[in-house]
Order: sequence, then C-alpha cells, then structure tokens
Amino acid sequence: MNTTEVGGGTPGVPPVKVEERLFQNRYLVDAGRPHIKIKAHTTPSKALLALTHLCPAGCYSQNDKGQVEAVVDGCVECGTCRVLTAKTGEVEWNYPRGGFGVLFKFG
Ligand code: SF4
Repeated sequence: MNTTEVGGGTPGVPPVKVEERLFQNRYLVDAGRPHIKIKAHTTPSKALLALTHLCPAGCYSQNDKGQVEAVVDGCVECGTCRVLTAKTGEVEWNYPRGGFGVLFKFG
C-alpha cells in the first residue's frame, strides 16, 4: 500500500496519508462479479508485477507461486492497471455494473 502523503501544499492544511483519504470512500461490492480479472498465467510480465506496487488501492499481490492475484473490492477505478497491461492483455478491465463500485467522498 502506498504511504505517500498528499495535500499539505496549502497553508493551514496538514498533509494526509493516502490510506486515510481512501478510507473516506465507500464501496458497494458486486459480490462474485469482479470488474477486473487477471488472465491465467504462470509467470507474470513486468507490467503485471509492477501493479503489486503501483495500484493505489493495493488490489494486486503475489501468491506463493509468484503469480499475481487481484482482489478488487477496494478499487478506485483509476485505470492504471488497464493502461499498464494494455499491450500484454493480462488484465480484463471493465467498469463495475451500475450502482456498484466506488463512491468517492470529496472534501
Ligand atoms: S483500476 Fe486502479 S485502483 Fe482499480 S485495480 Fe486497477 S490500478 Fe488498482
């Protein structure tokens, strides 16, 4: 999970950790119908492996066989994984069905 602080550039506004910002969001999980799927693989590409570090919601991880897995319940729909694996085709990416997914809280 990314621990970078955001904000704080404005006088009087303290920096906030990304995790704290993400915690403000709400999610309606479409149980059993993940909107992002990883295609079966033996060895992940560098792009897929990079997602274990780059996904801002920490959805990607490596299992004990070295394969990359995803649990996308906390996905913020940023599209990073879609763009990063566009050439390899390892990720099947769709928006969640209407009414499901992230509900951003601003402010
Ligand atoms: S769309 Fe963004 S938040 Fe969602 S799984 Fe991909 S990289 Fe993570």
